[in-house]
Amino acid sequence: MSVLVVGAINADLVVRVPSIAAPGSTVIATGSSTGPGGKGGNQAAAVARLGGECALIARVGPDFDPASLSDVDLTYLVRDTVPTGLAVVLVDELGENAITVVPGANANLCAADVPELPAAGVLLASLEVPLDAVLAAARSGRRFVLNPAPAVHLPPEMLSMVDVLVPNEHELAVLGSPAELLAAGVGAVVVTLGAAGCRIHRPGSTVDIPGHRVATVDTTGAGDAFCGALAWALDAGHDLEEAARLACAAGALATTAVGARAALPKAEDLTKLR
Ligand code: ADP
Repeated sequence: MSVLVVGAINADLVVRVPSIAAPGSTVIATGSSTGPGGKGGNQAAAVARLGGECALIARVGPDFDPASLSDVDLTYLVRDTVPTGLAVVLVDELGENAITVVPGANANLCAADVPELPAAGVLLASLEVPLDAVLAAARSGRRFVLNPAPAVHLPPEMLSMVDVLVPNEHELAVLGSPAELLAAGVGAVVVTLGAAGCRIHRPGSTVDIPGHRVATVDTTGAGDAFCGALAWALDAGHDLEEAARLACAAGALATTAVGARAALPKAEDLTKLR
C-alpha cells in the first residue's frame, strides 16, 4: 500500500545569533544555513527514507526545487505563483529558538487540490496548511494519522475521522485531555514526550513506550520523523504499539545530526537501535 502525506513545504533559513534581538534592536548573526523543511515535506521524506511508497499533496511556488524530495511521488504537487513557504529560525547560543513562518503557497492549499483517492493505505496530515484541504483528504476513508501541529481547535467532523492523533505535550494542552479526544471519536492518541518516548491512549488503556538514549545534537524534526515512521509502520501492517516503538527509534535517530532531514533513518537503522 502507500502513505499519502498532506502538509506544508517550506524552505528553512536557520540563522545563528549570540542572542535573539529584542524589538527595535539589531543583532549580528554568527552564521546561517538554508535547507528544505515544512512538516509535510519532512514527514514525506521520513517515509521515503524508510523505503515506504509515499506521495505528497502540497503547494509550492516557482522557486521550489524537487530535488529536495527526490524519492517522493510529487504527482499531486500544485505549483502556485506565490513563493514556497519560508521558516526563519533564529537560534541563540543556548539553543533557544524563535521561529517566524511565512506560509506562502501553503496558505493556498485547498480541497480542490485533493484528488480522488483510493481508500487503501494511510493518510498522514499536519496543520501548517488550511483545514479544508486536510478534511477533504480525510474524507477518502483512508486510515488517518493526524499530527495536530500547530495545534488549533479541531472541528468535530475531523476528530471523528482521526484514527491516530499524534500531538506533543504542548499541542495536547491546546487540544484537550486524551479522554476528551477519545470521547470525540479519535481512535487513539499517541502523545510524544521528547527523550522519554511516547504514551498511547486508547479507550480503556494507556501504554508507555520508552525513549532511546542517543547522542542528541538537534531535536528539530524529531516529531516529523516520528510521525512519518508511525504512518509507514502502520501502512506496513504493524499494530499501533509496534508502530510506536519503531517511531520512537526514528524520532531518536533524527536528533543525532543538525537539521530536520539530516539524520532520517532507513528501516534497518530502526531495528539496529532496538
Ligand atoms: P516534537 O519534535 O514534535 O516536539 P518530541 O520532542 O516529543 O516532538 O519528539 C518526538 C519523538 O522523537 C519522541 O517521542 C521521541 O521518540 C523522539 N525524541 C525526541 N527528542 C529525543 C531525545 N532527546 N532523545 C531521544 N529521542 C527523542
